[in-house]
Amino acid sequence: MNDVSLLVWIPLRFAVDESSVSLLSEKVTDYLIVFVQESFDHDIMDPNVCELVDQWHALHKEGRFSPLNIREYWRVKVPEIYSPQQNCNCLRISYDEELAQKLLFDALERFMCGGDPSQVYQTLRQLDNPPSLCGRVFKNGDPTYGCRDCGMDPTCVLCADCFKNSAHCKHRYKISTSSGGGYCDCGDREAWKTDVFCHIHIKGQMVQQNENPLEKIPSDLTERIQLVFDTILQYAKELLTIEEAFSIPKDLELRDSDKEPTNMSSLYDYKDTFVTMLYNDETHTYDQVITTLERAIECTQKEAVAYATSIDREGRCIVRCSDFHNCSTSKTLMEKHTSRGGGRPLKVQVMHSYVIAHQVFASRLLTWLHNILESAQAFRLIFSDIVNKDGGSIVENIIWTDTKMWKTARVQWHRLFISGMLMDQESKKMFARIFTKHYSKMMKDFILDDHDHAVSVASLGVQLFTMPTIAHMLVAEEDVLVRLLNTFLSECEKKLKDDKLALEHRSSNTSSFRRIQYILYDLKYLLGVKPEVWTDDLRRGFLHGYNLILRLLSMMQGMDPMIRQVGTHMEYEPEWESAFNLHIKLAAVIPLVIDWAASDRIVLIKAYRLLLRELGETCTEDMKRRYVRELLDYSVSCIEYDVSSAPVSIHLPLSRIAAGLTLHLDKYGLNYNSPEFHVKGKPSPEELMEPVLRTQVMIAQVHAGMWRRNGFSLINQIYFYHNVRCRQEMLDRDVMLLQIAATLIDSNEFLIHLLNRFNLMSWAREDYEINYLRGNDEDNMRQTVVLVEEYLQLVMTLVSERYTPGIGQISEEERIKKEIIQLLSIEPMPHSVLNKALPEGTNHETGMEKVIDEVADFKKPAGATKGLFELRSSYYSHYNLFFYHYTREEQSKSEVAQRLRKKNAGEEECCPPPVPPPFTVPFTMIVNVLQCDVFLHTIKMVLKRMNEAKARSVSESQLQKVLHLIGYALHEEERYHQNNDPYFHFTRRAQKIELLSLLEDLVGHHRTNTHKDLLSWTIRKYHAVLNLSAGVTKQPQLSEAALASASTSVAVHASAEKKRKADLVAQRKARIMAKMAAMQQSFIKTNETLFEETPSTVEQIPDIPESSLMDITEQLPEDMIAIGPRQTLLMPKEISYTCILCHQEDSVGSGEGPTGRPMVLGGLIQRSTVLSQNRALRIEQPENHDPLILPADLHWGVHTSSCGHAMHAQCWQKYFEDVFTKERRRPYRIRQNLSFDIEKSEYLCPLCEALCNTALPLLPGVTYTAAKMRNSQDVPPVISLVDWLKGLQAVLKLKTVVMSGVRPDEEGTSQDDVDMEAAQQGGSVVTSRAVPSFGITVPTTAGSVGGGGSASVVVSRLGPGTAAVGRHQSQGAGGLRGRPPHGPKLHHHKKHKKGGDGKEEKEESQNCTEGTWTSAPFPKVRLEIMASSSLEAADAFSFLFNHPASTTIPVIEPQTSEMMGNFAHAVYMHGLGVNPNLSSRRIPLMVWDTVAYTIHTLEQTQRNANRALLTSLSSRQHDCLAALVKFAAHVPSCVKKKQHIEAASLRLLSVVFEGGESSPCFLEWDTFSVLVTLSLSLPSVFPNIQGMAIGSAQDLYLLQVCFLAHLVQLLITYEPQTTEMDVDLDYETNDLCEEQSSSSTNSDASWLVSVLTCCRALANLNPLNVEPQRLLDYIKENCLPFLRCCGLFFHFLTEVPTPEELQSSVWVPESEFYCLLRYLGLSMNSLRSTFDNPALMELVNRWCSDNRVGTLVAGAGSEGCVQSWMRINQLVSLPPDYSELINTVSQFPCPASSGDDSRTPTMCLVCGKMLCSQSYCCQTEFPEGSRHMVGACTYHAHHCGAGTGIFLRVRECKILLLSGKIKGCFVNPPYLDEYGETDQGLKRGNPLHLDNVQYGRLHAIWLSHAIPDTIAHTMESNSNVVATEWQHL
Ligand SMILES: [Zn+2]
Ligand SMILES: [Zn+2]
Ligand SMILES: [Zn+2]
Ligand SMILES: [Zn+2]
Ligand SMILES: [Zn+2]
Ligand SMILES: [Zn+2]
Ligand SMILES: [Zn+2]
Repeated sequence: MNDVSLLVWIPLRFAVDESSVSLLSEKVTDYLIVFVQESFDHDIMDPNVCELVDQWHALHKEGRFSPLNIREYWRVKVPEIYSPQQNCNCLRISYDEELAQKLLFDALERFMCGGDPSQVYQTLRQLDNPPSLCGRVFKNGDPTYGCRDCGMDPTCVLCADCFKNSAHCKHRYKISTSSGGGYCDCGDREAWKTDVFCHIHIKGQMVQQNENPLEKIPSDLTERIQLVFDTILQYAKELLTIEEAFSIPKDLELRDSDKEPTNMSSLYDYKDTFVTMLYNDETHTYDQVITTLERAIECTQKEAVAYATSIDREGRCIVRCSDFHNCSTSKTLMEKHTSRGGGRPLKVQVMHSYVIAHQVFASRLLTWLHNILESAQAFRLIFSDIVNKDGGSIVENIIWTDTKMWKTARVQWHRLFISGMLMDQESKKMFARIFTKHYSKMMKDFILDDHDHAVSVASLGVQLFTMPTIAHMLVAEEDVLVRLLNTFLSECEKKLKDDKLALEHRSSNTSSFRRIQYILYDLKYLLGVKPEVWTDDLRRGFLHGYNLILRLLSMMQGMDPMIRQVGTHMEYEPEWESAFNLHIKLAAVIPLVIDWAASDRIVLIKAYRLLLRELGETCTEDMKRRYVRELLDYSVSCIEYDVSSAPVSIHLPLSRIAAGLTLHLDKYGLNYNSPEFHVKGKPSPEELMEPVLRTQVMIAQVHAGMWRRNGFSLINQIYFYHNVRCRQEMLDRDVMLLQIAATLIDSNEFLIHLLNRFNLMSWAREDYEINYLRGNDEDNMRQTVVLVEEYLQLVMTLVSERYTPGIGQISEEERIKKEIIQLLSIEPMPHSVLNKALPEGTNHETGMEKVIDEVADFKKPAGATKGLFELRSSYYSHYNLFFYHYTREEQSKSEVAQRLRKKNAGEEECCPPPVPPPFTVPFTMIVNVLQCDVFLHTIKMVLKRMNEAKARSVSESQLQKVLHLIGYALHEEERYHQNNDPYFHFTRRAQKIELLSLLEDLVGHHRTNTHKDLLSWTIRKYHAVLNLSAGVTKQPQLSEAALASASTSVAVHASAEKKRKADLVAQRKARIMAKMAAMQQSFIKTNETLFEETPSTVEQIPDIPESSLMDITEQLPEDMIAIGPRQTLLMPKEISYTCILCHQEDSVGSGEGPTGRPMVLGGLIQRSTVLSQNRALRIEQPENHDPLILPADLHWGVHTSSCGHAMHAQCWQKYFEDVFTKERRRPYRIRQNLSFDIEKSEYLCPLCEALCNTALPLLPGVTYTAAKMRNSQDVPPVISLVDWLKGLQAVLKLKTVVMSGVRPDEEGTSQDDVDMEAAQQGGSVVTSRAVPSFGITVPTTAGSVGGGGSASVVVSRLGPGTAAVGRHQSQGAGGLRGRPPHGPKLHHHKKHKKGGDGKEEKEESQNCTEGTWTSAPFPKVRLEIMASSSLEAADAFSFLFNHPASTTIPVIEPQTSEMMGNFAHAVYMHGLGVNPNLSSRRIPLMVWDTVAYTIHTLEQTQRNANRALLTSLSSRQHDCLAALVKFAAHVPSCVKKKQHIEAASLRLLSVVFEGGESSPCFLEWDTFSVLVTLSLSLPSVFPNIQGMAIGSAQDLYLLQVCFLAHLVQLLITYEPQTTEMDVDLDYETNDLCEEQSSSSTNSDASWLVSVLTCCRALANLNPLNVEPQRLLDYIKENCLPFLRCCGLFFHFLTEVPTPEELQSSVWVPESEFYCLLRYLGLSMNSLRSTFDNPALMELVNRWCSDNRVGTLVAGAGSEGCVQSWMRINQLVSLPPDYSELINTVSQFPCPASSGDDSRTPTMCLVCGKMLCSQSYCCQTEFPEGSRHMVGACTYHAHHCGAGTGIFLRVRECKILLLSGKIKGCFVNPPYLDEYGETDQGLKRGNPLHLDNVQYGRLHAIWLSHAIPDTIAHTMESNSNVVATEWQHL
């Protein structure tokens, strides 16, 4: 039925190969379509479907087709595909979408298109102009971008794609994250002032858009599309809004005919299948839902979490699918469980499965439709036609039933409306009308609903109302304001009490009242842009709404009134917050209302009349009660009211809107008294200002302490009244209204009204002090004094605050400038603080950026501090001390700052009033206040009383204010004089009260001392102004300085000048003194910090060796050699430490004589993966891990750190015990929030609060005896390298290895003895090779662990039976071993109780692959050497082990030894994360490993910071390493069984010198760790000999061997690279080398090449062509890290001082290389001479011929083998622009739930992995089987960072540090805005850029293993913050 005729009209050019995407697909990102070659392919179509479609087409042609045809088909097919199966796993319900596509969607699409759908779609799309509107719908969490320069309002946003392609990314943009629901405004002309289109959507704009695409489509196609859309909409509407769980539209019901077996359908099978559906609500918590589910449907917790997650995301979820009975049982259970405690139960429904099927399909259809609509405009046009027929009944219907649907269904409809209607201007208008029509019903539903606003259809309001054309249309034609406000008012009316709003707190209604306030947002959107052109309809619509706003305001006028409490305190704090919350929302609307009203004369007049009428009505009886007040010659009829006893309110919105509107009257030639405003009941000016004045007086009384008993509610209200968030529509308007009143009332009268309201009439009388004061008590007096101050302050505010456009002659910018000047006068401020302190306009902009550069300089951030804005000096004089926005604290702080500044500058210490801008014409009258009689009288009163010794009603503050007022008057007179306006003449009027002499009388008076400078300024100014009017001066424009010098009062002036000069001198002196003092202080401070860092350590390293009798030459430090025969030996100094707990000093040092009590350092041991070069590897089974050698890739390690604070072991034990018992007594819940985990034996250092989990013993140095020996005359026999190697061969040859399943060495002495016997008499069973098997002797040729070479392996003869006995014994012995004789009691008792001893047992007995290694007794070895070599060699070799220097081990006291045991065990336990086992053979190995790992870390940290080896090492690093290395040397003397040491040493010797299949290949060794372990264990390798590493010849040889191994590692993994850069570098270094020793380096280079060639040959690798010099440079560079580690190790072991160069501030790697060679006793001139020894080459042979080498080298650089030996791990590299980062995560799906976006995408900064953090969906049970759920980050940190993690929470821009499962903290992100500030949580949204310094700091924290400590410190300092459950992140 290929209907070709249909396709004829498709132009050929469209038939190109574009790719097709199924429209069903959710993720249609672009609309390219695959062109299917065979346009009609019956083969892939279901034949039944073909037939059906043909049928439909036929019917359609006949005009007999109706939606019923389709629905009948769906009735049968839909349940078949979309019904859930009985008893299925409800979490994994999936439907056969392929089948659905085939049977349902194909049929529909084919019918609709009348042919191949893809072709039709494509054609329609081509008809489309490319879209010029983006309209991408945001999901929750999507980044959105606003432009602060171009956006019409903050709701105008772009999606990431449009933003990146728009001009706005170069503007001042703002990032935020969407809460879902909105869409991209790109292309909307009403959203952007400029740059409306991005580069993508501008293309759409360029094409002509006049044609209607519908005209080009064949009408039958249109018809069919209409038909299909209509069918879908009806179907979806009916199905998705079903309320009854069983009802379904009649025509879709089951029919009896379905039962017939002849019927093809299996529909009837679904008759008895039901589901239990659980719905989402916002009242029940996640946990409630989870526990309910666990019980009601008996699922696991994990499943319950999955259900809950799904319900939360989708809004509902099937939790059970079964028969009716089962389903309703579950329902009842759940309802019962959740309604406990009287709450609303969870919504649960039992539903028929075929209802579900239809709903699922309906929802799929909506998605399908949405995608179709997005694809072409033609579809949208058809869609909106359908939707709009019958007056939009479908939209209506959906609006009405919105709250009846679940979350996803709602969101789908909303999305459909957006894509179908809002993209087209006309449809959008239609939609807006319908929306408005049903607004009231919709809001009422929303109030009763309990879903978020974002998932309510009401949230679409913002999309419609923010568009000005639509908003204005709705106001004019749909009465939208009235609809909105009526809805709001109807809710308010429920809360009226005495005609005032009374909002109660915490009542059930509050939430509904909160919800209704969303209307105010909509109101704000509607009024966002004022109309340019007014029509009558618009006027009517607006005024209609305005009237209702007035009604609302009058409900609020005087709400929450307060009455002053006298006698008793308030019983309860009255509610105040709700009113302020309402105010804040209204405050965003009111300025817009005023703007609208003020933009049209007619509207303004009507609005003002309405307002006056409304105000008149509020003028109740009490306003009408008057009495007459008299002062001087004035008598005034005042309103009778007493603020201190009658109710007063802070809420006066009606008065305030009056102030706002009055300000605009002048524009139209109107004023308060204009005839237009003759309204009945109009309030008089004093009635107008009365409410506001009362509030002012109340606040004054509060300041005077009269309202003390009214509690915090009042204090809070006053705080917010002044606060920047509220003051614009409170304080500012009040001041404005009083200023207006001052222009309307005669000045004298006005002031009398004020005085009367302040209750200061009697104070103003001349005889007050004499007649009225007597009766007054002290309290009253104080109050009056403050009230006068407040009164003067108010008058001053009214006459001087003119920085409001309309009041003063200023612009908006000048207003902002003024605010900034005043703020910066307090102190310099960072951008964010300043921005927050400025009031926001309606678009949330402060306008600060426009003016800030004029008034302030930005001081760039230095280091960790933020950048600050500092006021420019030219604006200093603008400072107004009595600025009305200042709080009292700000006022005094600024005064202090300004006085100090002036003092330092040698100026007068006073802040005289600045010159205010002139008033605008309507407000000029206010200045008259400053010269009126009442004013002069009051200032006279103050000044006179000031001079009266006995007067008690005055204060310095009154004087200061009066002087300021006079100052303002003088400024004003000056201005009037310059304008030649005689109206204002203060000085003349002031003669009446002889003001000048009043002032001059005060000079020198003791009461005026504080303000003497201000007084003299005022007098000077007075004279200057007098001069002006006397016409003395010639220049009309005199600066203040000129005025001062021109002053006639020579005496005053001269004395002032003299004083000033004297002051200057004194000040300079003081400055110099201060500077010196500061320098001194800083010197002490530096030392203090030094001292703090090392309070217990006295300088340990003498700069000059004192023991040596040699000449101290310049060369001396150069000659320091740490090890070998040429070792520089010094007497170690005795070191004193002061215990930080008992403050007593003790010394640890010489091994002889009485030493002090044992001491320890607090230490922290942590497992680490920081240095790992291979993050894929980790220790899977710590119980069985063999720590013999650290791996070359350092994929695991144990780091030890210390804060370096020393304590006595005893003091420490007591302290630790105290902490432990104290914490254990705490309830578990509280303990969780602690910064340390007592379960892991953590504690905080008592001095510095560093995190610790062990104590590191302080031990004496090892070289003490050695140094003493130097003086004895014995010349020690020198052993050659060859002989030494032979000796070791002998040791290896004679060793015995017992392979046994039982751990003999763990079995206690008896078992041990058996082994020994076995070993000794083992001659008969010695075989060359043996398989490690459980006690069975199997001679074989297969290699065993370490059993290569000539080793003898003794296989235990113990049969299986014996082994069993052994095991049995081990269990029996367990009890004993758990409590070792002098074992540490403190550290582990907890663990012992918990873990039980049996567990400890299991740990090592399970796995024993390495066997028991025993070395032969020394005499035997000696004999062997004598036989193989010579007597001399044997003697020399034995000297190594009998040398008194290395065998005279200082006596260690039992307590010290106990501490040593403790520490070693702690390293083992914390390092491996295993259970305690005090006798584990792995303990010494773990200690040596941690030494190597810690040194590696320090080396890398230093290298990372570009520092020489020991440069600026902190004392804590230094002390820690010194103690650790010394301890490691002493380990052999503290282990349980020395045999463990021997075994370890032997095994490692075997690995290095014998190799073999089962020992690690040399490429896998960390050669430095081999060196550490060998040199510390080898002296004790023989039974009965306990030795110690002292840096002897043996250590030098070991170093040579290990160094060689490392060299070979480097050589064999070397890959020559040639790049331009290398060549350059080579050239330079070449020069350098040549200068030094060209011949030796040349020979080194060729030697290296020959070794390289040889090694590769041995390893069967292809020969390599290398350039010798380049190779040499590579080797030198790459072996430096190894040498640096060795340098650190031997330096701390032998305490031989290092050459200066290693501490130099400039790091030159090349010269450090030579310096280290020298220090380590190696030949410094050439490498070759060190290694050119056949015996060593023999070793190289052995290493390289290992057949694993080839494979490893081939995989070098990948995970198998290290190639970059120099690499220092970095944190992942982050993009420089933060927006890039946030865009990349916007699509990050949660890995656990299919396709859903993660809410908190979080990036591991170590490996870069993205995680879905802080979300139930990605919680994991950890440890497995524990039922403890942890979040994705905690889980990841465990694997990636051995429990420690550093993450970036991308959406919030926060760094998260985690450690040890329950601890964590947030720290500053490395992204900064242009002001150097971070923005955690994206609160400000400024563009952010990566700051490499900050990121480097984070890296350093991580690299130096300081994360746990950082967390502990942060948690400790924020301990009272609500605990975060870090493990759930
Ligand atoms: Zn966009
Ligand atoms: Zn765009
Ligand atoms: Zn812009
Ligand atoms: Zn002590
Ligand atoms: Zn400390
Ligand atoms: Zn990671
Ligand atoms: Zn997740």
